[in-house]
Amino acid sequence: MCSFCKQNGESSFIYMGHILKDEKGRVVCPILRMYTCTLCGATGDTSHTRKYCPLNKDKHCVYKKSGRNSAGRKLKR
Ligand SMILES: [Zn+2]
Ligand SMILES: [Zn+2]
Repeated sequence: MCSFCKQNGESSFIYMGHILKDEKGRVVCPILRMYTCTLCGATGDTSHTRKYCPLNKDKHCVYKKSGRNSAGRKLKR
């Protein structure tokens, strides 16, 4: 099944009908394939969302920004 469509809230008919990537790592999901990454412009076989973009450094900063408390410090390491 396609975890991308599932996360997007598509119906089970849609996300159970295909997979996200094939065994070679190419994107199969028609919805993700149509998506163009706003950070690196990847689309089609190598398409991904911003969140999964190799150029996206934001994901490493998420905990730093909100990590002013002791729990945040633990998440940093
Ligand atoms: Zn899909
Ligand atoms: Zn990208």
